[in-house]
Amino acid sequence: MNVTVIGAGTMGNGIAHVFAQNGHAVTLVDLDAAALDRARQTIDKNLGRQVKKELLTEEEKGATLDRITPQTDLAEGVSNADLVVEAATENAELKAKIFEQMDENAPAGCILASNTSSISITQIAGATKRPEQVIGMHFFNPVPVMKLVEVVRGLATSDETYETVRQLSEDLGKVPVEVNDAPGFVSNRVLMPMINEAIFCVHEGVATPEAVDTVMKLGMAHPMGPLVLADFIGLDVCLSILEVLHREMGEDKYRPCPLLRKMVAAGHLGRKSGKGFYDYE
Ligand code: NAD
Repeated sequence: MNVTVIGAGTMGNGIAHVFAQNGHAVTLVDLDAAALDRARQTIDKNLGRQVKKELLTEEEKGATLDRITPQTDLAEGVSNADLVVEAATENAELKAKIFEQMDENAPAGCILASNTSSISITQIAGATKRPEQVIGMHFFNPVPVMKLVEVVRGLATSDETYETVRQLSEDLGKVPVEVNDAPGFVSNRVLMPMINEAIFCVHEGVATPEAVDTVMKLGMAHPMGPLVLADFIGLDVCLSILEVLHREMGEDKYRPCPLLRKMVAAGHLGRKSGKGFYDYE
């Protein structure tokens, strides 16, 4: 299958890696040529890790890298695709523009999928003339390691499109789970209120971040505490998903904690900025 991945950031490089490793020809598109270079280095490094663990041979690593073609022109990049997975920056207007462009330039039978964490698939599909071929394919970070794919059906997604993406996810060695389009899907609708509540515990002086995380790890058998996880996801990303949930569901239970807003305003975004609930310097 010819697969095009739009966006070569954290998620895009992982998605390209997994498709290429499973024998698909991948075109990786980003506006930013430097992002394409970084993505290639990351994929190279992550494949190298798999070779070290003897999950992959040197030859398979080389063949996987050879299947990935970088591209800075989106129209050109989708012109031969059977499937496009969009993993560009999380912004509704940007995604609408990208889907309009993809719709104009991809072949008629091509499925257009989005890896969005929180934007409505039905709304994204509205930017195209093929809403029945638009679907959510929500991977998790790090993509080569995490098994889950939330397969999100928009209002108009056809059974045929759903079935193709479900089967394809299984062929990639993932576990697809069917979800209907709703704010935050299942993953973030359940996860983000838990993270938010953990932040409220710190905000109200109920416990330190270390104490909250220890309770959830040892008491609930979570592999990592909610505040370590929030730092890993990025506190700005958590805030923006909570804002979507709050706005679209219209319920106070999704109100972002003031401490989360304050930390994002201060630039304490978690691991990527060197400081969040913990220090990473
Ligand atoms: P990122 O910022 O790491 O990467 C986004 C990339 O998109 C950048 O390299 C940017 O240059 C590129 N881009 C922006 N506009 C573009 C355009 N018009 N054409 C081509 N490329 C463009 O972001 P990310 O964390 O990889 O997230 C990407 C998507 O995946 C978002 O929708 C996000 O919600 C979703 N997602 C993220 C995670 C996560 O843990 N980071 C998990 C699941 C889903």
